[in-house]
Amino acid sequence: MTTAPATPPASRRRPWAEPWKVKVVEPIRMMDRAARERALAAAGYNTFLLRSEDVYIDLLTDSGTSAMSDWQWAGMMMGDEAYAGSRNFYNLEAAIREHYGYKHVVPTHQGRGAENLLSRMLIKPGHVVPGNMYFTTTRLHQELAGGRFADVIERAAHDPADQGPFKGNVDLVALEALVASVGAAAIPYVCVAGTVNMAGGQPVSMANMRGLRELTNRHGIRVMLDATRAVENAYFIQQREAGYSGTSVAAILREFCSYTDGCTMSGKKDSLVNIGGWLALNDDVLYEEASNLVVVYEGLHTYGGMSGRDMEAMARGIVESVQDDHIRARIGQVEYLGQKLIDAGVPVVRPIGGHAVYLDAKAFYPQVPQDEFPAQRLAAELYLDAGIRAMERGIVSAGRDAATGRHHYPALELVRLTIPRRVYTQAHMDLTADSVIAVHEQRADTRGLRLIYEPRYLRFFQARFEPLA
Ligand SMILES: *Cc1c(COP(=O)(O)O)cnc(C)c1O
Repeated sequence: MTTAPATPPASRRRPWAEPWKVKVVEPIRMMDRAARERALAAAGYNTFLLRSEDVYIDLLTDSGTSAMSDWQWAGMMMGDEAYAGSRNFYNLEAAIREHYGYKHVVPTHQGRGAENLLSRMLIKPGHVVPGNMYFTTTRLHQELAGGRFADVIERAAHDPADQGPFKGNVDLVALEALVASVGAAAIPYVCVAGTVNMAGGQPVSMANMRGLRELTNRHGIRVMLDATRAVENAYFIQQREAGYSGTSVAAILREFCSYTDGCTMSGKKDSLVNIGGWLALNDDVLYEEASNLVVVYEGLHTYGGMSGRDMEAMARGIVESVQDDHIRARIGQVEYLGQKLIDAGVPVVRPIGGHAVYLDAKAFYPQVPQDEFPAQRLAAELYLDAGIRAMERGIVSAGRDAATGRHHYPALELVRLTIPRRVYTQAHMDLTADSVIAVHEQRADTRGLRLIYEPRYLRFFQARFEPLA
């Protein structure tokens, strides 16, 4: 594999202007309001159950929705579809070793495949897995393996108005106290995510990672990174942390990963592909186990559920993702949308995160109690107003306590406007801001929802609701 084509420096007048131009377009359309009302009712007021065709601007997720470059598409033609030992696997492995710095790579079909392998290998019944806030699939795999998640994120993360630069940080005092109370032997690893999706895409500082490494070394505990958006995290370190403004995002990413023992990765986010993931490990013995276990759940250890062409697209996506001008444009667009909403007085999580703008549904609809699903309702209203699809990240996503069966009541009740990479224009962001502002102006009489169907696992994907009024 060669290196990515060089891109020129961004202009000073529009510091985040995109370092690419559009070559292929995909038509989208806005249906009329009556059609949107029918579509939403048919979807049980759950934006996950809408048909993509019925959506105008799709901000459901940045997962697998990014646009690939011509260089990635060219790589798709170079797929080596041999069952074993595809050259694209070795290209992927080389890209990961170079940019993330880990020794061993196990490919998986997406991030949760890697989470399954890691959880099965390391978590035993009764174990406690500390993390900087939970992620839905990550916590479920920890629980299915018999473990219990313990939140050790800094308290500021639960306050949408707190303006701290690194609200994803691990609370090292709380972690030390947890180790003292359950014992290091009950903690298979600390699961640290950068950025933290459920906290609003908030980053972790390099200083915090160094502190975490020092603490865990003292107790002989592993650190496993959820590297899904670690490139975006690296950009925030470059912008906000003393001593890093002159360091490339690529170099920051390498240092960040160096404080961990391995990672799970959803390539569908940072790595600019539609499907793919991997597990990385530095430990030789653990790698041997993982490369055997992957055969059971994903496929042989040189494809792990991906085709050769998918692995090539991801290898090239990794190279593109760590370039400073790419990541500056990506996060610049998210901040542009966020600033428009802040200027209009819409309550959003501050500071604006890396991949999304998060609306604070509790502040938006103070009249709706949390168990009437204010964020779910707000996502539905955004679809009705202009065909914009967003995602609930509140009580529905948090699910139920495995022991008591009661709802988890998360402090954050959010709607996520997630921006796919290299897909939408500035006019789309302007239209989105106008629609959110219009829904905000009509907020006074809005009521909540009633849950009418609830699936057993990860209920937010398939639950159905009815409006209360
Ligand atoms: C998306 C995501 C995952 C899971 O990855 P999939 O590819 O969707 O299986 C894990 N952690 C975080 C932080 C994510 O955003």
